[in-house]
Amino acid sequence: MKIDVLSLFPSMFEGVLNESILKKAKDKGAASYSVVNFRDYSSNKHKSVDDYPYGGGAGMVLTPQPIFDAVAELNKNNPEGNKPRVILLCPQGERYSQSKAEELAKEDHLIFLCGHYEGYDERVREHVVTDEISIGDYVLTGGELGAMVVIDSVVRLLPGVLGNEDSPVLDSFSSGLLEHPHYTRPANFRGLTVPDTLLSGNHAKIEEWRERESLRRTYERRPDLLESYPLSEKQQKWLDEWRNS
Ligand code: SAM
Repeated sequence: MKIDVLSLFPSMFEGVLNESILKKAKDKGAASYSVVNFRDYSSNKHKSVDDYPYGGGAGMVLTPQPIFDAVAELNKNNPEGNKPRVILLCPQGERYSQSKAEELAKEDHLIFLCGHYEGYDERVREHVVTDEISIGDYVLTGGELGAMVVIDSVVRLLPGVLGNEDSPVLDSFSSGLLEHPHYTRPANFRGLTVPDTLLSGNHAKIEEWRERESLRRTYERRPDLLESYPLSEKQQKWLDEWRNS
C-alpha cells in the first residue's frame, strides 16, 4: 500500500512512521510512506496556504490551490480509473471505526489531507476528497494526529504485517465484540491468580471461556455493540443469565 500524507508539519510523522509495526510494514515492503508539505505547492510568492474567510469571522482557512495541485501531482502516475482514496481528516466527517479501517486496508493507494486553522475551503471537500474521517467528537489543532491514528490502524491489517495472521481477527471490534481478558506468567502474582480454565490445557474449555468473557466484557462496557451482533443460542443464554442475576 502506498500512503501519501499532505501536511504543513511533516516532521510530526517522523517518529510514528519509523517505529514499531509501521516501520516493520515499511521494511517488509507492505507499505510505503511519503509525507509532503503542501506549502511547497503554493503558487503564491510568499508560499502562503491560508487566507481570511469570505464573510469575515475568526481564523484562517486553507486555500484550495496548493491542495488541488498537490493531489493532482500525487495522482499523476496513477492509471485512469485507478484513483486513490483521498481522505480528509475532519471533525465533521464519518466517525472512524474498525470496519472503516478494514475497508481502507483493501486499497492500494491512500492520500491523507491534514487540515489546520479553521479548516479547508469547501471546494476541497467537494472536488478532491473521497472520504471525510473524524477520529472522535472533539476538536484537534490539526489533522496530523488523526492521520496517524488511521494509518496505524490500517497498516496493521495489511497481509504479513502482524506476526500472527489471526491476531487482528480476534482484536476488539473485528469480531463485533470486545476482546476477552489476557493473562501471562506468573500464574500466581502476589496472591493474584489466573483463572483455572486458562491453566487447564483443555483447549475447547479455554475457547469457551474466551468467548464467554468477550461477550461479558462487551455487555458490561459496550452494550451498544450487542444491538447489531448476531448472538448464538448459547450466547443469548449467557446474556439472559447476567441480565437476570
Ligand atoms: N473549524 C473546524 C470545525 O469546527 O469543524 C475545526 C478545525 S480544526 C481546529 C483544524 C483541523 O484539525 C481540521 O481541519 C482537521 O484536519 C483536524 N481535526 C480536528 N479535529 C479532528 C477530529 N476530531 N478528527 C479528525 N481531524 C480533526
